Amino acid sequence: MRLNQDRVCHCCGTPLLNSGNTYCSQCQNTPLALNGIRSWAIYQGPLRKAIQSLKYHRNLGLGDHFTPDLLHTFLPQHWNIDLIIPVPLSPARQRQRGYNQASVLAAPLALALHKPLVSRGLKKCRETPSQVGQSASERWKNVQGAFESDPRRVSGYNILLVDDVFTTGATLNACAEALLDAGASAVYGLTLARAISHADDQL
Ligand SMILES: [Zn+2]
Repeated sequence: MRLNQDRVCHCCGTPLLNSGNTYCSQCQNTPLALNGIRSWAIYQGPLRKAIQSLKYHRNLGLGDHFTPDLLHTFLPQHWNIDLIIPVPLSPARQRQRGYNQASVLAAPLALALHKPLVSRGLKKCRETPSQVGQSASERWKNVQGAFESDPRRVSGYNILLVDDVFTTGATLNACAEALLDAGASAVYGLTLARAISHADDQL
C-alpha cells in the first residue's frame, strides 16, 4: 500500500492516524538526527516479497524497477541534496551477500537525479546481530555507534541516505549521527518501504 504523503509525520514520515497532527509522538519526544525521512509504501504483501527477493535472491533488476517510485516520493519534498549514500552493510555481510541492496536501490536513483553516489562516505564498522524479531529498544541499542563516516567525503554536504526498509529508524539515525559527527550539513532519509507495527499513533 502506497503511503499518503499528506498524512505522515513531517519529520520521520510515519503515517499518522490523526490527520490533524504534524509530528508523530516519537518525533515530539525524541526527534531523530535526520532533517526528514520518507518512504514510498508499507512493507507488506508483494512489496515485502520483492524486497526479500532483492535482498536474499539477487533479484537486482528490482533496483531499476523501483527508481520511479523513489523519485515520486523524493521529488515533492524539495530536499536540497548534494550527494547520495546507501546505508552500508558490514564488510562481512557485504562479502557474504556480494552486494548491498541499499546500493542497488540508490545507484539508479543517483543517476536519475544527476547526483553523485558516495558509497565510501559511510561504513559500518562493527557487525550487529540480525535485527529481525528484535524489539525497538534492542534495535536502537544494537546500532548505536555502529557506523563511521569519512569527513573528507561528507563534510559540508547535504546528504540523502537510501535504504530498503525503515523499521524503527534506529539504523538511519545511527548513520545520520555518524555523518553529522563528520561534518555533514544535513541528512535526509529515503526508504522504499516502511514497516508498521507498534506506536499508538500509527495506522
Ligand atoms: Zn515522526
